[in-house]
Amino acid sequence: MNDILPAEIGRWHAVERAFRRTMEGLAYREIRTPYVEPTPLFVRAIGEETDVVQKEMYSFVHHDEPLTLRPEGTAGAVRAYVEHGVHNHEPITRWYYLGPMFRGERPARGRYRQFYQLGAECLGDAGPGCDAEMIDALAGFLREIGVEAPDVFINSIGSGDTRAKYREALVAALTPMKDSLSPDSQRRLTTNPLRILDSKHPADAEAVATAPTILDFLSEADRTHWDNLRRQLDALGTPYKVDPKLVRGLDYYTRTLFEIKGSYDKLGAGSTLIGGGRYDGMVKDLGGPAVPAIGFAAGLERLLIASNLEVSPSVVDVFVAPVGEGTDAPALVLARDARRAGLRCEVDTRKASMKAMLRRANALGARVCLIVGDREVAEGVVELKDLASQVQEKVARADVVARAAAVVGSPAPPPQEGGA
Ligand code: AMP
Repeated sequence: MNDILPAEIGRWHAVERAFRRTMEGLAYREIRTPYVEPTPLFVRAIGEETDVVQKEMYSFVHHDEPLTLRPEGTAGAVRAYVEHGVHNHEPITRWYYLGPMFRGERPARGRYRQFYQLGAECLGDAGPGCDAEMIDALAGFLREIGVEAPDVFINSIGSGDTRAKYREALVAALTPMKDSLSPDSQRRLTTNPLRILDSKHPADAEAVATAPTILDFLSEADRTHWDNLRRQLDALGTPYKVDPKLVRGLDYYTRTLFEIKGSYDKLGAGSTLIGGGRYDGMVKDLGGPAVPAIGFAAGLERLLIASNLEVSPSVVDVFVAPVGEGTDAPALVLARDARRAGLRCEVDTRKASMKAMLRRANALGARVCLIVGDREVAEGVVELKDLASQVQEKVARADVVARAAAVVGSPAPPPQEGGA
């Protein structure tokens, strides 16, 4: 779990802003759900046999009630959707969220115990139009925040019947090699055989390579959905790769599955930036009507590692430096006037030397320093110093805020040879 200090927060804000802009452009609205939910919600929604439920949840009992810090956002969103009967009010629901998630995993680069996810859920549309739109918009979002060449992988794991038939075929193919599988995969052969496909254990490599492919088992309806998804992605011009081994770690998925990876050089094994898919059965499983849905989640820390986005480190536009006795009050008033004009402003009432104050002004990235001295106050003027050009001028108190705003809004001159 990490502290995020103010020096880093500018990049977080920039990615969050880009995400909100993307989702609101697609008619999604923000939902905020509690960080804590009853444990059975996650067990039910995510699946008993998943790593998240078996090994990673922060669960505790409070007054006899089993509770868990949310390890992901979909279960809580669907719980809220059912609890508030949202399907009664609108045929299609588009929600996005951002916030912390908690998983007790082994920490690694891009893998934390409290991490932040950006995600969204579209409920009420069986797709594949909204699937294609979501994937295309996410690739665009990644490019916008400076992830070059995002790599989109898609698969279909079909719906109930397809899955049952495929599961049978997979178990039949893998059972003869059971003894050579990793211990985890041996167990999964009876509990969750599909997960063997994304095992990274070297002992499972051969079994995974020779296993039958789910795309050969799609029912007619699943096949139509899959073909149309690809056709629509083609029409949108989003490049993608089909990965029939893509199964993902959460049990709730049906039909469309996707992952977007990028920045392999910076993230290595943790280069999955966004994971998502369709979960047509979950609303009903959690006590609602049969409502189809699709969603995704992106790891914010990973997006920040992957993105080459740069943001201005400037904290203020204007720095007000009172000099001498009795200048604090006029300085405070001047700073407030500057803020009312929309300028970010710090006033330094430490009684520090001019040199120390200018050092502070530069450290904060101020463009303008307003010097308020006894004589200036008596004369009704302020010394305005453009910290980029080093030009200083005397400005009437009545005009100084407008003048400061004009300087802040003007381009900074190129740095002088040898420094000013
Ligand atoms: P999931 O909810 O497992 O489908 O994960 C969705 C995305 O969340 C992943 O692709 C990662 O980008 C991110 N993510 C998942 N677990 C972690 C973690 N422990 N630390 C950081 N990011 C994570």
